[in-house]
Parts: sequence; structure tokens; C-alpha cells
Amino acid sequence: MSKVLIIGAGGVGNVVTRKCVSNPEIFSEIMLASRTLEKCEKIATDIGSNRVKTAKVDADNLGELVFLIDKFNPKLVINVALPYQDLTIMEACLKTKTHYLDTANYEPKDEAKFEYKWQWAYHDKFKNAGILALLGCGFDPGVTGVFTAYASKHYFDKMHYLDIVDCNAGDHGKFFATNFNPEINIREITQNGRYWENGKWIETKPMEIHKPIEYPGIGKKESYLLYHEELESLVKNFPEIRRARFWMTFGESYLTALNVLQEVGMTSIKPVKFKGIDIIPLEFLKSILPEPSNLGEGYKGQTSIGCQIRGIKDGKERTYYIWNNCEHEKAYNDSKAQAVSFTTGVPAMIGSMMILSGKWNGKGVYNVEQFDPDPFMKELPKYGLPWHEQIDQPLPVEK
Ligand code: NDP
Repeated sequence: MSKVLIIGAGGVGNVVTRKCVSNPEIFSEIMLASRTLEKCEKIATDIGSNRVKTAKVDADNLGELVFLIDKFNPKLVINVALPYQDLTIMEACLKTKTHYLDTANYEPKDEAKFEYKWQWAYHDKFKNAGILALLGCGFDPGVTGVFTAYASKHYFDKMHYLDIVDCNAGDHGKFFATNFNPEINIREITQNGRYWENGKWIETKPMEIHKPIEYPGIGKKESYLLYHEELESLVKNFPEIRRARFWMTFGESYLTALNVLQEVGMTSIKPVKFKGIDIIPLEFLKSILPEPSNLGEGYKGQTSIGCQIRGIKDGKERTYYIWNNCEHEKAYNDSKAQAVSFTTGVPAMIGSMMILSGKWNGKGVYNVEQFDPDPFMKELPKYGLPWHEQIDQPLPVEK
């Protein structure tokens, strides 16, 4: 039985809080803290459990974080605020000797560049303090790393080609909205694409490479090659991988709208003067777009995210596809969330469970694929994320 502090009361924070509440044997006391106290209170009231305490915290402020952690004294901090806060929250965990978990890697605010190097640099400090930082424990990154570790453990001697495929075939009825934090989402998809091949990164123009890929239960969808953070840790932790790519689907109207916003400068992160003050166009755009936590009601359709792998087992070629499909409507009925928040919040809770139950044990900074995937995989269907696998069939990404 452990106390846990969740930071960030957005779409993902709502799901993690609900899932922790549903698991009282592990999470005895829960505090949800965020920049806007009312958002924490709304979630806590909606859940209606007296086990959720709330607090206001600015996670960019180390002093405020340390004060809150000292006062509540959790065993683990679950960071589901924004990637900009990762390092400050890790610092606060170090100072208070508290375990740490997040779902997105650190990104400096003034440069759209996400890399693990800043967080991996904390390994020795966490090790010496006797605490664990578990990085990237949402769905992608997160479950995709666990899926890859599971494939490696049970199905391959060597994995050579990895394709992560992420499809959202849902319709929220809005003209333009992003399924997770708009600022982070738009920064991610408007930067150059990148994939790993034969020991080096190959860079592409944004959305330059695309093709239709077949998704189970959905059909063919145009899928775009993007750079995604788990590629960096997976090729490091499975050095036998010769090529690793990440594909994501986008609808035509979404891309047209994004293109217009980009062309007129609304996605820029460089300050511009507006009525005598400096504003960042992308921050302004975020403030007028729908919040990811409000998209759930009436959202139809489903997501499908998985890993398609080609490699060798017992001297023979082997293909393997493992995936989860998640319906937006089911996610809403379960947790008042759309499927993207749901598929992120559930693994964040399961990762926390792994740490607090001692099933994932380590001192230092780790990515999910470095731990035994089996206990994590066992929990996924229990909390609403069933998975399916196909062995030695043609891979949809290669068709
Ligand atoms: P939201 O924008 O819905 O929520 C973010 C929350 O963080 C908001 O409540 C916001 O507060 C809070 N916050 C922002 N800055 C601070 C701060 N300085 N101090 C305290 N709280 C702060 O985003 P999502 O819930 O969609 O995403 C949360 C995280 O999950 C992001 O890092 C995102 O990249 C990651 N993610 C990971 C995925 C994966 O599969 N691995 C998939 C989807 C998301 P306020 O309301 O006041 O702005």
C-alpha cells in the first residue's frame, strides 16, 4: 500500500487518477496536483472517492514541488503534466528520494526537440539516491516498448526490422483538435521525420514518406512516417535492430488545416509582438483549441496501435504483429476520456503498479523495455487494453 502523487490534471491525468482509485490494494492514498486547482477538484469530485486529495502546484518551480512532496510524502510521483516539466520534477524526486514515472520525454520549451539524453544523464544520481525513474510509460512510448520486449523474450532470437504503427480512426466531430496536448502534438508532427537504418538516423522532410497501411478491424489508412521518441531507446536497448520506423495516420482535412496554420505562422514557437507584448503563436493557438480532456463525449471509432517485427527464430525468418484496438466510446464510458488519453493513462498506472509492487525493481533511470514485460502484459487486458498477436503472417506494413 503506497501513496502516489499525480502531477497534471489534463486528459491523461484524469485517466491515471481513476485507474489508481480502482486499485486500492496498491494505491492507498492519491493526490492529484496541477497548475489549475479547479481541474484537479473537478476530476476528484467526478470520481467521488474520498481517497483523492488535490493541490495546486507549478511544476516548473522546484521549491513548490519539493514542499508538496515533503508534505504528502508519496512513494512515487507520476508526471502527466507536460514534457517541459520532466527535469524539474525529476530534480524534486531526487531531493526527496521519491520514485518517478512519466509518459513523454523532456523537451526544451524554446526548441522543438525531444531526446532522452537530458533524462538519461540522471542515471547515476538516481542510482546513488536508491530510487527509480521509469521513462515513457504511456502507450507510445510505453506499451510499444513493452510489446517489443515481449516479442524479443518470447518470439525472436534476433529482431531485425521494427515498425510501430499508430492509427486513430476516430471522429470527434470537431473541425480541428488534437488528441493530446495541442502544443506538444503540433511540435511533434511538424518537425522533420526520422528513422533508424543500419546504425544511423535517416532524416526526412515532415510527412515526406507515407503509404496506406491496413489496420485490424479498421481497414487501410494513409500512414505517415514520423520521428517518435521510443525509437531512440529501442534501438539502444535492442542493438540488433537494423531498421526502426514509426507510422501515424492523419485524416486529409486535419492535414489541410495544419498546413494552413503552419503557412500563416500559427504553429511557430518564436515570439511575435502582439499589441506591444511578446506572444508565442503556438501557445496562443493551444489556448483556443479544444482541450484533449473535453473531446471524449460523442467521440466515435477506435484507435489501433501495435508493433510489426521481422527477425529470426531458430535459424528461420519470423514475422510478428502485436496490437491493441481501443474504442473511444468504451474509453468514455469507462473513464470519461477519449481513447488517446485512456491508452496513455492505463499504462502509466500499470507501470506505477509494477514499481510499487516491486515487480519492476531498479535504481537509476530506465525505459520500460528494460524490464520483464510479462507482469505488465498480464495487467493490460484487466484494465481495458486487451492485446492480440499474429505470428508468421505477412506484415501489413510490408504489403
Ligand atoms: P493536457 O494538456 O490535457 O494536460 C496537461 C496538464 O498538465 C494540464 O492539466 C496542465 O495544467 C498541466 N500542466 C501544464 N504545465 C504545468 C505546470 N507547470 N505545473 C503543473 N501542471 C502543469 O495534456 P494530456 O493529458 O493530453 O497529456 C499529458 C502528457 O501525456 C503530455 O506530456 C503528453 O505528451 C503525454 N502523452 C503521452 C502519450 C503516450 O502514449 N506516451 C500519449 C498522449 C499524451 P493547465 O490545465 O493549467 O494547463
